Amino acid sequence: MYNFRHRASIYAVIDLHTHTTASDGTLTPTELVQLAKNTGLTTLAITDHDSVSGISEASAAAKKLGLQFVPGCEFNIEVDFGEFHLLAYGIDILNEQFNSLLQTCTKNREMRNEQLCSMFQNAGIPIRYEDLRQKYTGQIGRPHFALFLKELGIVKSVQEGFDKYLAFRQPFYLKTKGLIIEEVIPVIHNAGGIAVLAHPMSLYLSWSKLGKKFLELKARELDGIEAWNGGTKASQCKRLEKLARQMGFLVTAGSDFHGKTKSLSRLGYKSDGTKIEDRYYTDSIQKALSI
Ligand code: AMP
Ligand code: ZN
Ligand code: FE
Ligand code: FE
Repeated sequence: MYNFRHRASIYAVIDLHTHTTASDGTLTPTELVQLAKNTGLTTLAITDHDSVSGISEASAAAKKLGLQFVPGCEFNIEVDFGEFHLLAYGIDILNEQFNSLLQTCTKNREMRNEQLCSMFQNAGIPIRYEDLRQKYTGQIGRPHFALFLKELGIVKSVQEGFDKYLAFRQPFYLKTKGLIIEEVIPVIHNAGGIAVLAHPMSLYLSWSKLGKKFLELKARELDGIEAWNGGTKASQCKRLEKLARQMGFLVTAGSDFHGKTKSLSRLGYKSDGTKIEDRYYTDSIQKALSI
């Protein structure tokens, strides 16, 4: 009888959405590259929030281990409702305009973090920004707040920290002021990269509104849609892939691996439990960037 467990080895495995200690992941860039190699990945992109500070280290580590590496970054885009995350791939990390975008994001994130600390303090929960800064590296994000709540014994897990405090519609949900999409896409293009909408379901739009949003973004020169994200249900990912292909977008896939702060996302895996096929890289980013 045919053994289905062997099907995964037919294609090469990749991951195009991952986080390190340069933002809210728990592995260093070198550790993540090593894990990718040990897991059998052939291509890895690192997409830290508002930061490319892990890219040089990861790129060197990947070169040593013979892994195809794609530099990336994940931005917050301003929207009234839900969360709009934009992935940039293949950018020249020394590009000046691109770095000034990163500076703006960092400033906005710092402001949000300070505000979030005040909100917690006002509620009698002692989270001081100095303490977070001392404990964690890179861009501080909500997963760090959730970790800290766990250390204070207020929640039992990072996920509980989100579910009760930090997630959308919870009392301590506070978004970072985002960038303007019309301004960001040209900067990514000028820095030699491509722009991909991350986990579209976090926009919290109905399917018909999402379709209209995709068309609007196409007109603004968005290049691709991340149809498969580790945090999105497989049935929704399939529908996103179909919609994105119909509209002529590049289609990408990534686990959104964060290490211990997001234990549900496994490096190299889709949300249906199968491995991420390399065609999500070779037919999209690789072609677009001629890597
Ligand atoms: P931030 O950029 O600080 O607003 O934090 C965003 C990060 O928080 C995302 O990349 C996820 O890792 C994590 N996150 C957001 N919403 C949730 C949720 N509902 N459950 C678990 N993690 C979440
Ligand atoms: Zn994150
Ligand atoms: Fe995201
Ligand atoms: Fe992410």
